[in-house]
Amino acid sequence: MTTRVRLLDDAAWVSVNDTRVAGVSEVWPVAGAFCSCPLTWLGVEAFVEAGVTGRRVDARVHGHCVVCGESGETGWLPVGRMTDDGFRSVVGARGYRQRSPVFGGRGEV
Ligand SMILES: [Zn+2]
Repeated sequence: MTTRVRLLDDAAWVSVNDTRVAGVSEVWPVAGAFCSCPLTWLGVEAFVEAGVTGRRVDARVHGHCVVCGESGETGWLPVGRMTDDGFRSVVGARGYRQRSPVFGGRGEV
């Protein structure tokens, strides 16, 4: 099964197999060195790129910490994964990926 990932509407959405699975204005808890907060609450402003490794979907985000205001681009963060029942979003804190996705795309791929 192929998982097709792309960005839609000026990088406002991540689309997986033609379904929008993540979008701007979401707030993601991120465990990692984005800002000086113990846990970053990342307000998503845009997606820089999205990628897929097997069934795993990751994205890089431009956003800001809603607690301290630090803004910038993140490294690769998990968005979710394909299951036999369809796409399942990550629940809880998101940790940075150590590796880039096997396939990564910027814009509409
Ligand atoms: Zn912060």
